[in-house]
Amino acid sequence: MILKNVHVLDVVNEKMIRNIDLSFDDGIINDIGNLSGNDEDYTYEDCYVTPGLIDCHTHIFMEGHADTIGSMNAMTTTDFIVTAISNLEKHLKSGVTTIRDVGGVNYYDLELKKQLHNGNIIGPDLFAAGKIVTMTGGHGHFIGREADGQTEVRKAVREQLKAGADLIKVISSGGVLTPGVDVNAYQFNIDELKAAVEEAHKAGKKICTHCHSTQGIKNSVIAGIDSVEHATLLDKEGAEMMAETQTYMVPTLSAVENIVKKGIEGGIPEYAVKKGKEVYRRHIESFKLAMDYDIPIAMGTDAGTPLNYHGKSSGEILLMIDNGMSVMEALKTSTINGACLIGIEETHGSIEVGKYADCVIYKENPLEMVETILNPLQVIKKGEMIL
Ligand SMILES: [Zn+2]
Repeated sequence: MILKNVHVLDVVNEKMIRNIDLSFDDGIINDIGNLSGNDEDYTYEDCYVTPGLIDCHTHIFMEGHADTIGSMNAMTTTDFIVTAISNLEKHLKSGVTTIRDVGGVNYYDLELKKQLHNGNIIGPDLFAAGKIVTMTGGHGHFIGREADGQTEVRKAVREQLKAGADLIKVISSGGVLTPGVDVNAYQFNIDELKAAVEEAHKAGKKICTHCHSTQGIKNSVIAGIDSVEHATLLDKEGAEMMAETQTYMVPTLSAVENIVKKGIEGGIPEYAVKKGKEVYRRHIESFKLAMDYDIPIAMGTDAGTPLNYHGKSSGEILLMIDNGMSVMEALKTSTINGACLIGIEETHGSIEVGKYADCVIYKENPLEMVETILNPLQVIKKGEMIL
């Protein structure tokens, strides 16, 4: 298949390549240039093509109900599976062709990977963490694998790897959605984090950590974690450390934004709204600090958290832009940077010959009218038209 006379966003060289043809074969981009051949029934002449978006922080088993824990406690196995299948489809149709899901339920995420692979369901390429590894009573314990001390943490990580996890997710601080834990307090100790990192890296897997706390971020960097999720209370020392080690930040601005904006009136539990409000301003400052220090950033929505729905990753991109990121940088953050963080930059994240034909087509030039990303004309997943 050939897309004739389109404009292609080159996120690697940061430029729009105008009036060019793209050819796909067997799910792969096999030529870019002035090509002869037919464009079948698809006419996207003069439209704009970006790489498929990569959302590095999702929770496909969470629907985005106002009361996360209450709703999850009431869900049956069927509810979880149906919810996840529906969320995967929403992501894909919105232009997200790859997700990194960071906190599954009962290893259903790893089962769903097989269903996606077999073509029984549709969705983005899914990189899944299995169960969150957290300390006893730590953030996310209600779906996670609790572990304390180096030996148990090693075992917990090994269990996820044995089950087929693509990456490991640990918890370095309290969280907004778990009642009774403090976002300012660090959770796993450095020796526990180091043990987790060693086990993940030995197996050739990446490891990310949920972390709000200032000290927790530093502990995570010292331990060698690959990405700090949220990094809400980052200070200058932590920013220097992240820049020095090129540790990724996945800011997930949508999560706190939705909790604070929709609040108790939206049905979100009071304890979560209170904690969200406490960190809201600091979170945005931390995001700006990360940009100032050239910390690598990858886009993640935390979709599934209260009133933060799947299929809205473009909203996270707009939020990053609202808070000072350039449109080009935000699109890089949401494509090639995500691929680098996941470790799939050889096959995903940009429109280049030899990579998967994962693209989104927009009517307008997103560099000039970024709102166009809210309404893709077409999503292409491994060469197949989705819309
Ligand atoms: Zn999350």
